[in-house]
Amino acid sequence: MNDLLQRVKEVDIRQVARDLGFDVIQTRRMLCPFHVEDTPSLVFYPPPQNEFHCFGCGKRGDVINLYADVCQIDFKTALEELGNRYVPNYEGYGSKKTRKIDIKSIYTRKPVEEKPFVFQPVFSAIYEDFQRFCLNLPATESARKAAEYLRGRGIDDWTIRLFRLFVLKNYGLANDYLKEKYSIDDLMASGIVNDRGNLVFFKHPIIIPYYQNGRITYLQGRTIGEPSEGTNKYQFLTGIPRTIFNIDSLKNLRGNAEVFVTEGAFDCMTLVRHGMVAVSLGSAKTFKKEWIKVFKKFKVWIWFDNDLAGQNGTRDLMEEMHLNGILVGRKYLPDGIKDINEYFQKR
Ligand SMILES: [Zn+2]
Repeated sequence: MNDLLQRVKEVDIRQVARDLGFDVIQTRRMLCPFHVEDTPSLVFYPPPQNEFHCFGCGKRGDVINLYADVCQIDFKTALEELGNRYVPNYEGYGSKKTRKIDIKSIYTRKPVEEKPFVFQPVFSAIYEDFQRFCLNLPATESARKAAEYLRGRGIDDWTIRLFRLFVLKNYGLANDYLKEKYSIDDLMASGIVNDRGNLVFFKHPIIIPYYQNGRITYLQGRTIGEPSEGTNKYQFLTGIPRTIFNIDSLKNLRGNAEVFVTEGAFDCMTLVRHGMVAVSLGSAKTFKKEWIKVFKKFKVWIWFDNDLAGQNGTRDLMEEMHLNGILVGRKYLPDGIKDINEYFQKR
């Protein structure tokens, strides 16, 4: 069985796609069968990687996932069928019949109706009021600890002021303040409170505001230091799509300027501190297709974390930018250095 799995995984994913009836163009792309689209966003990574990734809907996987999801069958059945068809001398128990997929109906199949997300101006008002309220409270022990932690990561007072970072100094007070000023519906829709009506940043008092056209459009919380067991380092807003951190810095930038794209916001801040133009995506795998236009006229350097997610994200993003005619390169971190912050601190 394990041997079968290995051998099936090595079957060229593009061949399987062609045999299913898909039109694979330029040996790398096809229209995505998992969402409705006019221009092909599904990209194949040929063997040995042998995977697919759709930049439109985010779906990705190996040859077995592709086959199973297109045919709407389970993984085991897919494995068996692929074994029967593509692995020489494999004598499986499944049927030998070849599946015929109605490709046309897959392409025109109506996707599940999704309510388009509409960002409401009141969200920015809530985020900005929250920021103002926090900044105006007198310093506390937790604010001091937060500043100390940030300095330890190379985020100095200049950087804190530039990016208007702030600390949730008093959770209870801020919680009450927002509820007095805004309706619970607006607060929940803005993602800043959870379904029990409380601020989501309970364990994440360092708040990173994301600006777009001078207004705050997103907030990201960070624990002070390493998180305790079962807590994530970051807290994001619920139900609000993330925007690009520091995107306003690209606004009046000349064409062909060098722009660094990082994973984490702190990495981006560090590069800016060192005189570079940088934005951050929040993680290695959140790139959205509509963001491409933001980078069109620049020379882009991708500088992600030194781990598997970072490497995969770099490869995917480079491919996507290449195909869109963007001049793109990548920066490497030395062995043993996990991210840009650490790199600049140890340098
Ligand atoms: Zn797709």
